[in-house]
Amino acid sequence: MRMILVGPPGAGKGTQAARLVDTYGIPHISTGDMLRAAVKEGTALGLAADDFMRKGLLVPDEVVIGMVIERIAKDDCAKGFMLDGFPRTQPQAAALDDALRAAGVSLDAVVLLEVDDALIVERITGRRSHVDTGEIYHLKFNPPPAGIEDKLVQRKDDTEEACVARLQKYHSETAPIVPFYGSLGILRRVDGVGAPDAVQARVQAALAG
Ligand code: AMP
Repeated sequence: MRMILVGPPGAGKGTQAARLVDTYGIPHISTGDMLRAAVKEGTALGLAADDFMRKGLLVPDEVVIGMVIERIAKDDCAKGFMLDGFPRTQPQAAALDDALRAAGVSLDAVVLLEVDDALIVERITGRRSHVDTGEIYHLKFNPPPAGIEDKLVQRKDDTEEACVARLQKYHSETAPIVPFYGSLGILRRVDGVGAPDAVQARVQAALAG
């Protein structure tokens, strides 16, 4: 299964991807996670990406495309992968298409998680993750268990200001790639509003249908 999760920031892509990879036994490739790891390690890639990420801007295509094309060529992706947060621009979508074509494979599904802008800011600013496990919670919608408060961290770009910038980029750069996948007949639109379990059930029904 080769698939992509698309949606605005805070739509629940990371949460759903983590659940779906267990079901399908494929690697979860999150460009946001890869870039955050590079920033943490202080690599050249991380240094190049840090400023864009803090401001809620997109990291330049040439940086991200190379990173993903290299990643999906690895052995663990031979039977499939789940891309989360890539492609996010038309050049990224075109580069992925070229790379898959050259490898003689194609995408099976693109899941679009739909959440209205009005809900996004509340979702993003309340988001926290566990510093050790990476588990994602929301202070109101998916509360963490009691006693782990000192283990919860907030992403640097989960502020209201960066969130507004990320939403603008989503609408101007990422939403325009969706019709391409519609034209291929592999687009599955899923309502992303609701508890993670409910959204997961919808995603699985959409993939099965
Ligand atoms: P995410 O965790 O997917 O929300 O990504 C966090 C941030 O990483 C984004 O706001 C961008 O700054 C950067 N980023 C992640 N994926 C991409 C991508 N495909 N293209 C450009 N920038 C990206």
